[in-house]
Amino acid sequence: NASKISFIGLGQMGSKMARNLIKKGNTVKVFDVIPEARNSIEGAQPCDSLQQVVEGCDVIITMLPNGRIVKEITLGQRGVLEHLEKGAVLVDCSTIEHQCAVDVNEAVLKRGGKFLDAPVSGGITGAEAGTLTFMVGGDETTVKTVEPTLLQMGQKVYHCGQTGSGQIAKMCNNLILGVTMIGTCEAMNLARKLGLDQKKLTEIVNASTGKSWSSEIYNPVPGILPNVPSSNGYKGGFAVPLMAKDLGIADSAALACGAAVPLTAAALQIYRMMQNHGFEQKDFSSVYEFLKGKNSK
Ligand code: NAD
Repeated sequence: NASKISFIGLGQMGSKMARNLIKKGNTVKVFDVIPEARNSIEGAQPCDSLQQVVEGCDVIITMLPNGRIVKEITLGQRGVLEHLEKGAVLVDCSTIEHQCAVDVNEAVLKRGGKFLDAPVSGGITGAEAGTLTFMVGGDETTVKTVEPTLLQMGQKVYHCGQTGSGQIAKMCNNLILGVTMIGTCEAMNLARKLGLDQKKLTEIVNASTGKSWSSEIYNPVPGILPNVPSSNGYKGGFAVPLMAKDLGIADSAALACGAAVPLTAAALQIYRMMQNHGFEQKDFSSVYEFLKGKNSK
């Protein structure tokens, strides 16, 4: 029962997610502001405008950098909403402020459509392998309708509750990830300075209580794992400014509700400093390189 799907935002994550939908036999129309990105998805129908990409589709998926762009694309002039078919579902997989998801949902409902916030976890490796975890906010019936499509790009779909709750779950997950990555990098750099082999330390940590996704699946030290950004000059992956954005979202949300987040605040400042010191294009695991310094012994 293949759907007619529209996919908007073909970056590190979106390009791989769209490819998996095509592999599963769906008709997929694609759009990105960058023309080369539109034409890079084999088997998709590249579109030149939001109107063209949205028309005739029952599911519209967005995978965009931030909340400002999601709002611009959906609510702006000649945006997605102007062309949304009645009953169509807009599924935003970007990581954005939960209030932003609530605002977009309201506008979509007024227009006669449905909206889900459905941010993902699993990184570019998960996007490529089709093993992402989706954290979904919205009404149960709509979640059930879209679940089979999400499972073509991922392995797990969690219905978190009402609109915005998927974003809250994602924000909390990335708070843990952002902090844990820094801890892993600190330990790896300390081991290096003290002459302990980092491969050996990784093996030990992964069999001990210090184990995390950062040590096991996405190790930040070059040469320990194949096919991760650290072994490829920190190219691709999850860029430093995106991690800073996610920790900024968590920091602001905590400020608004009075939760104490001391490590989130410190981690946010570390990624922001990296952004201003030549790391803005690199994967966030390059915090290892940042701590190590250029000429460090
Ligand atoms: P990216 O920057 O690689 O991709 C974003 C894409 O959106 C780009 O191709 C860009 O050209 C396009 N875009 C920007 N403005 C646009 C517009 N106005 N119209 C159409 N297209 C536009 O980012 P990414 O790494 O793919 O991440 C996308 C989202 O997913 C972010 O919210 C990020 O936080 C989240 N995320 C990323 C990862 C990861 O590992 N990279 C993992 C989970 C979640």
